[in-house]
Amino acid sequence: MFKNEYLQKVYAEVEARNAGEVEFLQAVREVLESLEMLVEKHPEYEKNGLLERFCEPERFIQFRVPWVDDAGKVHVNRGFRVQFNSAIGPYKGGLRLHPSVNASVIKFLGFEQVLKNSLTGLPMGGGKGGSDFDPKGKSDAEVMRFCQSFMTELQRHIGQFTDVPAGDIGVGGREIGYLYGQYKRMRNEFVGVLTGKGLTYGGSLARTEATGYGLCYFTEEAMNNMMNDSLKGKTVVISGSGNVAIYATQKAQQLGANVVALSDSSGYIHDPDGIKLDVVMEIKLSRRGRIKEYVEAVPTARYCEGCSGIWTIPCDVALPCATQNEIDEAGAKALVANGCKVVCEGANMPSTPEAINVYLANGVLYGPAKAANAGVVSVSGLEMSQNSLRLSWTFEEVDQRLQGIMRDIFHNAYHASKECGAEGNLMVGANVAGFLKVADAMLAQGIAY
Ligand code: NDP
Repeated sequence: MFKNEYLQKVYAEVEARNAGEVEFLQAVREVLESLEMLVEKHPEYEKNGLLERFCEPERFIQFRVPWVDDAGKVHVNRGFRVQFNSAIGPYKGGLRLHPSVNASVIKFLGFEQVLKNSLTGLPMGGGKGGSDFDPKGKSDAEVMRFCQSFMTELQRHIGQFTDVPAGDIGVGGREIGYLYGQYKRMRNEFVGVLTGKGLTYGGSLARTEATGYGLCYFTEEAMNNMMNDSLKGKTVVISGSGNVAIYATQKAQQLGANVVALSDSSGYIHDPDGIKLDVVMEIKLSRRGRIKEYVEAVPTARYCEGCSGIWTIPCDVALPCATQNEIDEAGAKALVANGCKVVCEGANMPSTPEAINVYLANGVLYGPAKAANAGVVSVSGLEMSQNSLRLSWTFEEVDQRLQGIMRDIFHNAYHASKECGAEGNLMVGANVAGFLKVADAMLAQGIAY
C-alpha cells in the first residue's frame, strides 16, 4: 500500500469512482506506487491536484455501433474512445476489437498509453479505443460494414491535430483501410488521421514490424547494459501469434536467438528446433488459421491445448506478446524455476502484479510494456511526421530511427530508476520518466477554472 498520504487519498478516490474496473485500477495502482519518491519531492503536485487530474481521462466516449451481417441480421456492438491526456500532444493510441473490450480495458490501455507515448520522446498524448465486436469468423464484408459504422460515429471526435488512432488486437491493415476509407468518405479530407495505413495511401514502411522489432531492440539493449549479454544463442519463448509475436520472432531470430514456442488463445506449440516463421506466417497471416495447424507442417513440434502451459517451457528469455494478465504468479514462478533471466513485455500489461513481484524478487531483468512495446507508437509518430511532410522514408531509415528510440527509452528508464533509488527497476524508471514530462506540461498549462 502507499506510504504517502496524498497518493493514498488519490488512489482511494480513483477506486471509489471506478469501482469494479479491475484492469484500470491495476494499472493506476502500479503507476502511483512507482511515484512515491517523486511525490515526496514535489509538493506542487498535491497543491495543483495533479495526480487527481492525471488519473481522470479528459474525455470518455461510448457509442452504439449497429451493423448488418451477410444474412441481413442486425447486430449492435459498443464502441469506445478514451482521450486520456493531451498535455504533450494530440491523443494517440490504438483501437482494439475483441469481445473482452469494456470501459475498464479501454481506460487501462489509455492510461498506460499516456506514459508510453511520453517515453518515446515524441509529442503525442495518450488515448485508446475499440469495441466488443469479435472479428473472428466474420467475412471481409461484415468486418467492412462494422468498421464503417464504427467510424461513422468516431469521425466526429478525431482529427489529425486532435486524436490519431491506430491498430491493436483485432485491428490490422484490413481494418485500418476500411476505417480510413469511411473517414475520408464522410469528411472529404485526405489527412493522416489514422496510422498503420497501407503503403499506397500514406502508411510508413516498418510500421507493421515495429512493435515486435522494437521489443527485441529494447531487450537487446537492456541485456547488453544490465547483464553484459545479448539475445544471441538464447532460448526464447514468445506468446501469441499475432502481429507483435510474429515480428518479435522474426527479429529475435535475426539477432541469433532460438525461438521455441508461440501460442494463440486455444493452445501453444513447442518446437525445440526453432519456430519456422514462414509456416506460422502462412497459417496466421495468409489464412487467419489456428496455431495448432503448425504441427501438421512440422510434425516434430508438439501442440498443447490451453495457453498458460507455455510458461513451463524452459527458456532464457520470455516475451509475452498476447494479452493482459497472461502471466500470473504460477507462470512467473515456473519461468524462474526453469532458469528464465529476462521477461520483456510485447503485450500490454501481460504480467499480473504478483508475477511482477516474482520477477523482481528473483533478479529477473523485467522490461515493462510501456517501455518495451513502445516501438509501434514511435513509428506511428514517424508516420504522422511523414504525412505532415508529405514524404516517405525508406524501411532502413525508419528502422534506424526505431532502434535509436528504443535504445533511448531503455536509457531514460534506467537513468530514472537510478535517480529514484531503485537502480535497474525499469518499471519504476519507465513510470517516473514517462510521468515527469507529462506532469511538467500539465503544470505549465494550468487549470481551467
Ligand atoms: P493480434 O490480434 O494480432 O494477436 C493477438 C494474439 O494473441 C493472437 O495470436 C491471439 O490468439 C493471442 N491471444 C489472445 N489471447 C490470448 C491468451 N489468453 N493466451 C494466448 N494467446 C492469446 O494482436 P497484436 O499482436 O496486435 O497485439 C498483442 C498484444 O500486443 C496486445 O496486448 C496489444 O495491446 C499489444 N500491442 C500491440 C501493438 C500493435 O501494434 N499491434 C502495439 C503495442 C502493443 P487468438 O487468435 O486465438 O485470439
